[in-house]
Amino acid sequence: MLSKYIVDNTFFIVPSKLKEELLFLINKKDHLINVSFTTLEECKAKLFLEYDERAIFHLTRKHNLKPANAKIILENLKYCDLGDLEVLKELNSIKNELIDLGYLFKDEHYFKRFKNKKVIIIGYYLEDYLTREVLSRIDNYEIVRNDTRDLNNKEIYEFETLSDEVEFVATKIASLIHSGVSPDKIKLVNVNKEYELEIERIFRAFNIGFKLDNKISLNNLPVIREFIDLIRVNSYQDALILLKEKYDLVKTNPRIYNKIVEVGNKYNWYQGDFSEIIDLIEYTFSNTSLSESKVNIVTTSSLNIENVLDNYVFLLSFNHGVCPYIHKDDEYLSDEVKKRLGLDTSSKLNKLEKEMMKNLLGCVENLTISYKLESNEGVHLPSLLVEELGLKVCKDYKSDPLISYSKKYDLYKLGSKLDDFINYSIKDDTLSLFYSNYRNSSYRSYDNNFTGLNKETRDEYMKKIDRLSFSSLDDLFNCSFTFYLKHILKLEDRETNFNMFIGQLFHYVLSKVYDKDFDFETEFNYFVNNSEIKLTSKDEVLLIRLKDELRSIIEIILEQYAQTSFKKVELEKSISIDIKNYSSMYLTGVIDKIMMLEEDDKRYAVVVDYKTGNSSISHDFSYVEHGINLQLLIYLYLLRKSKEYADIFIVGFYYQLIAAKDPKLSFKDDPESKKYNVTKLDGYTLNNAELIKKLDNSYASNPFIRGISTLKSGEIKNTREISEETIKKYIDIVEKNIERALRIIENGDFKINPKVYKNGDSCKHCPFKDICFVRYENKVNLDKLGGGNSEME
Ligand code: SF4
Repeated sequence: MLSKYIVDNTFFIVPSKLKEELLFLINKKDHLINVSFTTLEECKAKLFLEYDERAIFHLTRKHNLKPANAKIILENLKYCDLGDLEVLKELNSIKNELIDLGYLFKDEHYFKRFKNKKVIIIGYYLEDYLTREVLSRIDNYEIVRNDTRDLNNKEIYEFETLSDEVEFVATKIASLIHSGVSPDKIKLVNVNKEYELEIERIFRAFNIGFKLDNKISLNNLPVIREFIDLIRVNSYQDALILLKEKYDLVKTNPRIYNKIVEVGNKYNWYQGDFSEIIDLIEYTFSNTSLSESKVNIVTTSSLNIENVLDNYVFLLSFNHGVCPYIHKDDEYLSDEVKKRLGLDTSSKLNKLEKEMMKNLLGCVENLTISYKLESNEGVHLPSLLVEELGLKVCKDYKSDPLISYSKKYDLYKLGSKLDDFINYSIKDDTLSLFYSNYRNSSYRSYDNNFTGLNKETRDEYMKKIDRLSFSSLDDLFNCSFTFYLKHILKLEDRETNFNMFIGQLFHYVLSKVYDKDFDFETEFNYFVNNSEIKLTSKDEVLLIRLKDELRSIIEIILEQYAQTSFKKVELEKSISIDIKNYSSMYLTGVIDKIMMLEEDDKRYAVVVDYKTGNSSISHDFSYVEHGINLQLLIYLYLLRKSKEYADIFIVGFYYQLIAAKDPKLSFKDDPESKKYNVTKLDGYTLNNAELIKKLDNSYASNPFIRGISTLKSGEIKNTREISEETIKKYIDIVEKNIERALRIIENGDFKINPKVYKNGDSCKHCPFKDICFVRYENKVNLDKLGGGNSEME
């Protein structure tokens, strides 16, 4: 069909895949032909002023916008000449500002290239406002579309669950491949996020090679997170060299290496330190994905002409709201404004989407459509197009149990059928058939023991671990398998949730309170506005309450500061020490607050770790020999071993609650004094009355250190006392624990060994329960091992 359009002096506007096809046909001709190519996306971009990272940078800094919001503003600048509405005036002033700075540019001659040419547009089906604008600038064009079939009475498939739907698709694909269809002729379209896990699981069981075109944003890759941490303290170039050497990136993953270079090049205009524009670099990484590699079956999230031509197309999730996509009136320009400007409103776009979908579906020769009624995200309805197109729904599809394409998947099914039978007495029709075929299956014989790692794997991961911290040691000692999953396999979900956001926000603002020109509102708003987290309306309401709480906690902290002679304060102090002599391994820690007193050529200090309401505070050191509750002790160890603080005399070490859940109020208590009480420094203090008086000048009336009071005789009572010898003993215990940790890591000894002890259970909040299948016999009872014997009890 395409050949007839290949004539001299033609300009093709086509998607890149079709361009490849046209070039292939052109190459087969026996003479040179003068044709040119572009895409509709490029034409749309050339209609208006274009921008680059400098414009985003300017809006984030001058207008205090998040990068994502700056991008929305920039995308809407194209409409600001369409009228004189208030919203457009604002856009216009931003546009003029950016033009003055030279951050907007336009290729005035772009559309002249179409003059005196025949323009053929193929592969585009959405006739939206921007497409219409492009067409209005081309004199001689022809839109070419494939013939469409009537879909009336075409059979489509309904499934109870998403898993059933994916299983059906996998079976059909296996059958196609079995009959000789090449996998690269098979496309799965409309694969959104909720399908990915099931496709991975089921397709692997069927041994079907596939590539999820899920556009994983680079920002989520552990290696990119590590790179971003590196540019906080190194130049972009140095960080890249460090990463390149550590992972041999050019050899092992050149695509990621090139992407990092690409992102760096986008900011080569920036003269300052790259650590100042981390927000923008993170944003750019989050909008950068790896290009698709050409392997086997490709899945895509959208239906377009490139995926449907000459292919076997499996269209999944033919559900309401998904297919066709439904636009809502939630964009920067509201429908009301769009209507007045002659732009496409959400309802007009919905009609266009529907038309496009009908046309595209009609183009596919080998089309299989399916949908589900339920998934983890809830209940789903079929697409409205089912009725509109007169499709015939098959609601009770059953695959032939006598034909199997995957023994592995059959065994999984047998397991789930046996589960139903044993647990709920539900006997599936095919249970006997499966059972007789796979009688020797290993049902209920799963062994969850960690079986070790071979030397090459150990050497490989050891290259990736060059530092330990309190939290990684805490994971290791609570359960070695947690450490393996989190710090070696990096399985932890890195997305910031609301609790983490609050913790970071409180820590950030508290790190600024001792600044001379500290302004609560400025710092609070700065952090909130620059955070990437999306707050729900419930979060926003909660944030208002927490803001008040933080404000009152800061008042208390400043009050405490007024009452201490330990006036020199260091905040968010990062300390790193070498812990392995024969190859580099560091112990690092960030201490929230060190308060110091310098007197008579001596330095006295206390260490404070802020805790938010959800973190547990324990000053029980009964289990430190087993590595439990080491946080404050590790900070003492870091101070003692670092060059900067080796001479310091430790007076106390504490947790301080900075975001308490509402303290329970009694009738007698007034809320303020209750809060004061909750936020007292909670830990241990050296039994030295003189130093206590200097640390807390209010010791006689209203001490801010828990455990300190004054007797009638005027003598200071300290119920949380600690001696210098005990501090030394604990520092030695930390050292022994570090040596033990290094041995466990070097030997790859990541057993499932969660600890249970008085008031503690390592599995309680562990996110990996679904992976480890922990059993009772895996648990290590520390009390039975001789924990719980501390001189402090
Ligand atoms: S759930 Fe328990 S046993 Fe499993 S990884 Fe977590 S801590 Fe270890």
